[in-house]
Amino acid sequence: MTDYAIDLHTHSTASDGLYAPQVLVQKAYEAGVRVLALTDHDSTEGVAEAAEAATQLGIDFIPGIEINTETSAGEVHMLGYFLHYQQEAFQQALRTLRDARQRRGQRMVELLNEQGIAIRWERVRELAQGAVGRPHVAQALVEAGYAQSIEEAFARYLSKGCPAYVPRYKLSPQDAVRLIVSARGLPVIAHPLELPGPEILRQWLPELCALGLAGLEVYYGPYTAEQETLLLTLARQFDLIPTGGSDYHGPGIHPTPLGGHPVPAESVTRLQEAAAARSHQTPPPFTLPEPAAE
Ligand SMILES: [Zn+2]
Ligand SMILES: [Zn+2]
Repeated sequence: MTDYAIDLHTHSTASDGLYAPQVLVQKAYEAGVRVLALTDHDSTEGVAEAAEAATQLGIDFIPGIEINTETSAGEVHMLGYFLHYQQEAFQQALRTLRDARQRRGQRMVELLNEQGIAIRWERVRELAQGAVGRPHVAQALVEAGYAQSIEEAFARYLSKGCPAYVPRYKLSPQDAVRLIVSARGLPVIAHPLELPGPEILRQWLPELCALGLAGLEVYYGPYTAEQETLLLTLARQFDLIPTGGSDYHGPGIHPTPLGGHPVPAESVTRLQEAAAARSHQTPPPFTLPEPAAE
């Protein structure tokens, strides 16, 4: 292990993190982090600001993202590293994904309004400060006194089968790998033990690897040594780079502090090598699938 911390999984206000990118980088520096990746959900909006702050502090910065995908087994998050994130086609795809989510939020508010529930879209957007999700609509419902708690707001209005439920724009893990690869990034499955778990992963990995999957998040926030060993075995078996990070969103949101889970320097070296090797290849372009009709 190194005498400095490495954190390859963090969030800022560009998605659902609490700190602005520049502040997050400062906090990371204070926590001893010297290699940092910013991995906001479906957005690289915070990357330029974070990169500049990192340069000033002497932190090695990796532009990243975390793309939310859905499968029949549940949600799967795909991290992407060393993205050529300024590519227009890549940004266009991300905008479409975020717009779809925002429209989803907007539609939920419309449905609620139609039923005489007076919450305002502007307020939901304010609460979100970035990508709008159901929790923000729930928050607005609680704030306006239509539910006692977020849980109740979901149960009464927002869950599947409820009056204001609106289907979501779905991306598969395969789509996310293709999208990240199209921007010359390295796709890495985030917190693989949340879902789908090792058995389903083993079935999926051959196809995902063929599409360009580069790594598996092994050294993750709350994972134990036994869980790491299990994931390391899987990573070796499929020649995937074991990566790691805190999944920091701000104080009190996730249990692991910035740089709080040790990540070996070898993870970074291997990612750098893989990124360099791929930078000479021309990746296939990416086309977004149609939104789910569900
Ligand atoms: Zn995640
Ligand atoms: Zn995350």
